[in-house]
Amino acid sequence: MFYLAKEKKEKKQKGPKSKEFEKLKEGLRVRFLNTAHIMWGRDLHELTENEIYQTVAATAKQYISDNWIKTNRTYGEREEKQVYYFSIEFLMGRLLKSNLINLGIEEAVKEVLEGFDLNLSEVFEEEPDAGLGNGGLGRLAACFIDSMAAHRLPGHGCSIRYQYGLFEQKIINGNQVEIPDNWLKNGFAWEYRKPDKAVDVKFGGNAYMKEMPDGSLKLVHENARTVMAVPYDVPIVGYHNNTVNTLRLWNAEVNRDFSDYGMLTQEQMRQKNEYRMFVESITRYLYPDDSTYDGRRMRLIQEYFMTSAGVQSIVRHYKKTGMDMHDFAQKIAIHINDTHPAVAVAELMRILVDEEGFEWNEAWAITRNTIAYTNHTIMPEALEKWPVDMFRELLPRIYMIIDEINRRHLLEVRARYPKNEGKVHALSIIQDGMVHMARLSIVGGHSVNGVAKIHSDILKDTTLRDFYEYNPKMFNNKTNGITHRRWLMGANPELADLIDATIGSRRWHRHPEQLDLLNDYVEDKPFLAELGKIKHLRKEALAKYIKEHNGIEVNPDSIFDIQVKRIHSYKRQLMNILHIMYQYHKLKTDKNFDMLPTTYIFGGKAAPGYYIAKETIRLILAVADKVNNDKSIKGKIKIVFIENFGVSIGEIVYPAADVSEQISTASKEASGTGNMKFMMNGAITLGTLDGANVEIREAVGGDAHCVIFGLRAEEVLNYYATGTYSAWDEYNTNENVRTVVNQLTDGTYGDFRSLYEYLVHANDEFFIMKDFNAYAAAHVEIMKRYQDRFHWLKSSAMNIANSGCFSSDRTIDEYANEIWQVKPVMIP
Ligand code: PLP
Repeated sequence: MFYLAKEKKEKKQKGPKSKEFEKLKEGLRVRFLNTAHIMWGRDLHELTENEIYQTVAATAKQYISDNWIKTNRTYGEREEKQVYYFSIEFLMGRLLKSNLINLGIEEAVKEVLEGFDLNLSEVFEEEPDAGLGNGGLGRLAACFIDSMAAHRLPGHGCSIRYQYGLFEQKIINGNQVEIPDNWLKNGFAWEYRKPDKAVDVKFGGNAYMKEMPDGSLKLVHENARTVMAVPYDVPIVGYHNNTVNTLRLWNAEVNRDFSDYGMLTQEQMRQKNEYRMFVESITRYLYPDDSTYDGRRMRLIQEYFMTSAGVQSIVRHYKKTGMDMHDFAQKIAIHINDTHPAVAVAELMRILVDEEGFEWNEAWAITRNTIAYTNHTIMPEALEKWPVDMFRELLPRIYMIIDEINRRHLLEVRARYPKNEGKVHALSIIQDGMVHMARLSIVGGHSVNGVAKIHSDILKDTTLRDFYEYNPKMFNNKTNGITHRRWLMGANPELADLIDATIGSRRWHRHPEQLDLLNDYVEDKPFLAELGKIKHLRKEALAKYIKEHNGIEVNPDSIFDIQVKRIHSYKRQLMNILHIMYQYHKLKTDKNFDMLPTTYIFGGKAAPGYYIAKETIRLILAVADKVNNDKSIKGKIKIVFIENFGVSIGEIVYPAADVSEQISTASKEASGTGNMKFMMNGAITLGTLDGANVEIREAVGGDAHCVIFGLRAEEVLNYYATGTYSAWDEYNTNENVRTVVNQLTDGTYGDFRSLYEYLVHANDEFFIMKDFNAYAAAHVEIMKRYQDRFHWLKSSAMNIANSGCFSSDRTIDEYANEIWQVKPVMIP
């Protein structure tokens, strides 16, 4: 299966290539063969598929490591400012293809492998996804480090090397089942373990200030548990530019001097075992819920573990370069992606004050000038906070520092707002027995940004209003982005080729804003015909995937209407499936109703303990089972739930969409990035005015090329503020809604009483029933537009042509210029 069929190979023969290309190929061929022999001590034809994948990766690493060494040397010599992007998740997906694209050797590798009758596309499939993230937040971090390297910015990632990534989702008997994601079972080809760069992280014990004989105070931290943090470095390859940055993933290991051999008492043995179990649990699992606060102590341990290790290693490296610690903030930027690494504020203070002997005020100025924070949610329940008792017990010195930061901060607040204890309450980092991490991040940094215009505005008006009034200058917006190298050039190479050929230039590969040159062709019939063919090709590829994985036959000539993302109430997959139930009901009961054949495709994981989300999956599958098997509707509706949605499956799914479902309750989705991936691949957005949908609409020139529906954010926020929405009234007055909501309990699809209760009696917190009719009308509009092929393809082209501003290259430039003040560094 791995080896090319003869005919296929012959068909692929191409014309003569340049001498340079032939030389590159020859070098690759020799390295590939040598690598195979060194790694496995066997002949190539004896290797398993996975061994061949590992050999190709190891060959690519030889091209990478030359540049990695050069990059690190140049950064050291030039003493340029470095950025460290701290994120508790990096959803990297596979790296072989993107590394080959970025190195510029994909075509050569493909041809070398063909020389051995091997198929590169199938080699790609052997790589496990590095699924070290839940969804958008983790994937954003992955796109950002790709863009930093592409733009020659000295920017590195810092995170955790989870032994198990996000669970693997299986659908069994119509339900989600979670299987541990043992992604490291064959090793991770791209990591380099660096035991000599390990650092110690301390938990627990007692911390206090002790008076020394000379009258000075010295910190004492006794009886702490020390965990060794060992870095595993992953090279991050820049696009055709020699830059190779570093993603540093930390692994928790037992102390250097740990030994459970020798003469130990039973009690000593027990303690040793307990210590080992504690250490090994720290980096074992990624927490499968990124959207709500969960009070598990282990999560706080993980947060401090990676942050402390990261900050310590930055300071150690900085000092090794010989630069003055007083200049730290001019040379180092630390960015915290959401609040999980917010303890960086206190950790840097700890190092500066306790270890480097800085006076508090100076340490504070350095810390604030170094750190910047991105907020990802306006939902108050999703803002992280920790009980003081838990925090103090685990991190006694860090707690002392936060307490002191807060004491000094509140002195300023009281000076600013005399006799206004309401303000003190709202602005205090420690409040009602909880440590508020977003507040710590704001007070301890110099910048706070939201991730789309509407989100940044809502933050200022609602969630972080008091902080905005207190210090408006530090608030800014940085609309998210996606790397067009992975999500367009990598995932949709035929479309990339068509763009090259149409605008007669490949400059957009480096300057994605130049995709806008396509605007000259959006009415060009030959171009649109080609665009239509490529979309069809991608739909066929997805149909094949579905046939293989779901056993369902879907028609590539039907509309592919796709919603893939984490399953969450505010993302409203429930509204989507209720609407499909409505269409099905109309097909069955209303002779005058007709619709275009549509394939509704869902994908996404529900957090294991999130009952409503899991019930939503069960409902989608139950409706699919009934509708897909009803011959009477002549295939007008097909429903598919794609198992285990993640980065690699996304690369097949996003390019195949006609319609991109972005239907979150307005005000709830901070930005979304899936919406951008669909747009860049020519899908039409069917969405609410939420997150980056607002900017997608602006970019495509308004409603002619997207379909917007539903409540606006102000209306939603107003309903919440006034409590005037009544789901019960909506249910009773809206017949369309009532019909399908009743089907949740009448046995049409099985028993979905909990979803019924959620909508009707728990007041439909995300306005599914309220928005239902507008959503149905939006679908009618989509079908109307789809019938006009020329205009549909024009809209598709308009979306691609105006998606350049959603490249993460643009986003990263904004961070670099407006927050980090870092400049590109040329690597010779
Ligand atoms: N999961 C994966 C694998 C993704 O690629 C993305 C999108 O960028 C997401 C989750 C988040 O999707 P959305 O922004 O649509 O919620």
